[in-house]
Amino acid sequence: MNEQNTLIEKISTLRRERNAVILAHNYVSADIQAIADFCGDSLELSIKAAQTDAKMLVVCGVRFMAETAKILSPRATVVMVRSDAGCPMADMVDPDELKAYKAANPDTLLIAYVNTTAEVKALVDICCTSGNAEKIVSSIPADKKIMFLPDRNLGSNLINKLNRPMELWHGCCPVHDAVTVEMINAMREKFPRAQILVHPECRPEVVKAADQALSTGAMLNYVTASSHDEFVIGTESGILYRMMQANPGKKFYLLQPEILCADMKKLTLADVERALRTGKDEVVLSDEIIRAAESSIREMLSVK
Ligand code: SF4
Repeated sequence: MNEQNTLIEKISTLRRERNAVILAHNYVSADIQAIADFCGDSLELSIKAAQTDAKMLVVCGVRFMAETAKILSPRATVVMVRSDAGCPMADMVDPDELKAYKAANPDTLLIAYVNTTAEVKALVDICCTSGNAEKIVSSIPADKKIMFLPDRNLGSNLINKLNRPMELWHGCCPVHDAVTVEMINAMREKFPRAQILVHPECRPEVVKAADQALSTGAMLNYVTASSHDEFVIGTESGILYRMMQANPGKKFYLLQPEILCADMKKLTLADVERALRTGKDEVVLSDEIIRAAESSIREMLSVK
C-alpha cells in the first residue's frame, strides 16, 4: 500500500473513532477534497457547521472558517488542520480600528464578509458571503448607511450591481486582486468559445470584462447547468477538482496557473491525519465572542 492510501485509511479509522466530520473548502487540494465528508464555499460550510451534531469538526480551510464552525457548533471540538493557515484579507480589519469607526458612526450598519476574524464578527450587525452578499445588502432598508468590510472589491461590485451606495473598508483578497483585464483578454483570444468566470473578489474592471462573477458554489452550479462546454476559471485552482468531477464532458482552463491561495495550499493529507489524531489545534473562543459573533452569522442565515 502506498503512503497516500495508508494515510487515507488512517483518516477513515480516526474519523470513525472520533465521531468526526471533515469539512473542506473548495480551494484546498484535490486529495483533501476527495476524503472530506463535505466540500463547499464559505456559505455552504457555515450551513453544514450549523447543522452537524458531530463531536469533532475538522476544518480544512483557513482560520476564519474554523472559527465560524466553532461559533455555529460551539459544543463540538473544532480543529484546524494547520494553525498557520490564515487569510490575509481577514487580517486587514484591526478590531480596534473597527471599534473606533463604530463609535464615530453609530448610525451606520456594519456588514462583514464572512472572511473576518471572530472578534470582528462579534462587532458587526450582520455577515455575508460572496454567495449571498447581494441578498444581504438588498435586505437592508434603502435609507440605512452601510459600511461593508473588509473587501473593497466585493463591495464595489455590489455597489455597481445593486446601485446601492456603501462605505467600503480598505481590504482585499491578494489572490483575486491580482487578476487583471489583460489576463481575461489573453484567454478570450485563446479560447473564444469559452465562458469566462471570475470571483466577485476581483476588481470591478475584471468583473466587467468577464462573462460572470460568481462565488465558488455558484460557479459550480453555473458550469453544471450551462449549455456551454468550455470555461475559463478565474479563481483559486482548487475549484477545478469538483468542476471536473461533476462535468467530465466539459473543458476547464485556469485563467492563470498561479491563482493560488498560499494559505489554503499549506494543508496536506498528513496534516488532516495529524489534526484528527492529536486534536492539537483546537479553536478556542470566549463565550462572549461566540455569542456576539453568532448573532451576526445567524442574522445572515435568517435572511430569506
Ligand atoms: S483566497 Fe483570498 S480570501 Fe480566500 S483565504 Fe485565500 S487570501 Fe483569504
